[in-house]
Amino acid sequence: MKLTIIGQWGGYPAPGGATSAYLIEKDNFSLLVDAGSGSLSNLQKYKEVMDLDAVVLSHYHHDHVADIGVLQYAWLVNSYVTGHDEILPIYGHAEDKKGFESLTHNCTEGIAYDPNEELKIGPFTLAFQRTKHSVPCFGMRISDGESEIVYTADTTFTEDWYGFVKDTDLLITDCNFYAGQDGSKAGHMNSSDGATIAREADAGELILSHLPQYGNNSDLVNEAKEIFTGIVHLAEAGLTWEK
Ligand code: ZN
Repeated sequence: MKLTIIGQWGGYPAPGGATSAYLIEKDNFSLLVDAGSGSLSNLQKYKEVMDLDAVVLSHYHHDHVADIGVLQYAWLVNSYVTGHDEILPIYGHAEDKKGFESLTHNCTEGIAYDPNEELKIGPFTLAFQRTKHSVPCFGMRISDGESEIVYTADTTFTEDWYGFVKDTDLLITDCNFYAGQDGSKAGHMNSSDGATIAREADAGELILSHLPQYGNNSDLVNEAKEIFTGIVHLAEAGLTWEK
């Protein structure tokens, strides 16, 4: 499967950028994981918006769902122009009723996932892990039967991640703080937290994402490398990973 980072900023997008959004593709099936602010604009650099097959959301904070509304408009406008009558499935949890109901529109349908069950979307099988965050939020383990990606979404550090992440090929972590900063009150992790999970779970590679807009982001990589000896990437729009 192939991952393309669409947006990597936490909270709000830096100029010209986007917050959390990740495109995962296999066999011509395109799954968008989260749809943060600026993501629809960035997505179109890599994918026709009508070529999306499904969307799955970790939670309903704005920096993960801000572009759902304009994605719905994009599909609606295209339905007028081309006459297509496809419906885009948007998977989300139903613990936030208002958030979940917002997923259904003329050309999109909200589908509730049960975080206790495996979910099949196209060629992918997803498992969920409830995170420690200010609102209900779920990390995901995405498998295509050959390789696996774990995405922590937004979370405070907890050893609960070790088992869920175990032996994954790629771990994408919430890295909204620098080493030594305490992200727990904000519901996020720092570079050391993510690297510790990667080390303890024997992850193949680590991508630090949900990045802060201040400081020197490359420091995050150096901090993580002090703990995790595998490959560490700093998320940036357009970065791809394939296995
Ligand atoms: Zn959040």
